[in-house]
Amino acid sequence: GPVVRLQGVTKTYRNGAEPVMALRGIDFEVREGDFVVIHGPSGSGKSTLLHIMGCLDRPTAGRVEVQGTDVGTLGARRLAELRRKDIGFVFQTFNLLPVLSAFENVEYPLLLNRWPRRERRRRVMEVLESVGMAGLGHRRPDQLSGGQKQRVAIARALVHRPGIVLADEPTANLDSDNGQAVLELLSQLNRSTGVAVVVVTHDPLANPYARRMVRMRDGKLTEVNG
Ligand code: ADP
Ligand code: ADP
Repeated sequence: GPVVRLQGVTKTYRNGAEPVMALRGIDFEVREGDFVVIHGPSGSGKSTLLHIMGCLDRPTAGRVEVQGTDVGTLGARRLAELRRKDIGFVFQTFNLLPVLSAFENVEYPLLLNRWPRRERRRRVMEVLESVGMAGLGHRRPDQLSGGQKQRVAIARALVHRPGIVLADEPTANLDSDNGQAVLELLSQLNRSTGVAVVVVTHDPLANPYARRMVRMRDGKLTEVNG
């Protein structure tokens, strides 16, 4: 079955004077091996969609399934656990912990998942290798370039072997060469491991890597191809 499935998902924010309908009835599936690129204007609901797919936020109505589990039935603890096992996040600002080395940043999710030390070390080295950062594990984020930081963040997102990686504007703070390299890396990891990738971006450089292109507008999704 699909890695993530959304059925009739709506999201209304009610914290302001006027309620904002950020998502209006989304039906969407991400399957194993997918590489989905989501475009759309600012304010169209892309981040909200990504947050709901990643179980960082709950929908106002509708159903969200991750690996066949209806996440609406889960309490906060089980939901956090599911997020730590099945989902990886990549952010536009990298979100690395500044006091930790690259190695320790990548190791962190495995600590939370209580992996034993030897297996942690082996897996961290393996995944740093897969993003071309094996030699720089000792460096702190402030000793890395933007492109290197995003490689470390991608390693962290993948270290616990999630079924899906959700990337919110992953190239927004990179020059076009480094942005291209990050997209190429995500695509290569998608092809080699089958991890599903969803990229929200304004960057047209992402288009050649998409297996599916989707456009968001006023809280609704339109499939562009595939
Ligand atoms: P995008 O990622 O496409 O820019 P967003 O999902 O961030 O779109 O936002 C969709 C709409 O929901 C916008 O009108 C935005 O202002 C509103 N919105 C997003 N997050 C919140 C929030 N936490 N509280 C209130 N309104 C929000
Ligand atoms: P994006 O680059 O995706 O458009 P934003 O800068 O709009 O992101 O939003 C960054 C964060 O602020 C997100 O977590 C989003 O949900 C939240 N947010 C966006 N719009 C609002 C809003 N009107 N009120 C409160 N939070 C918002």
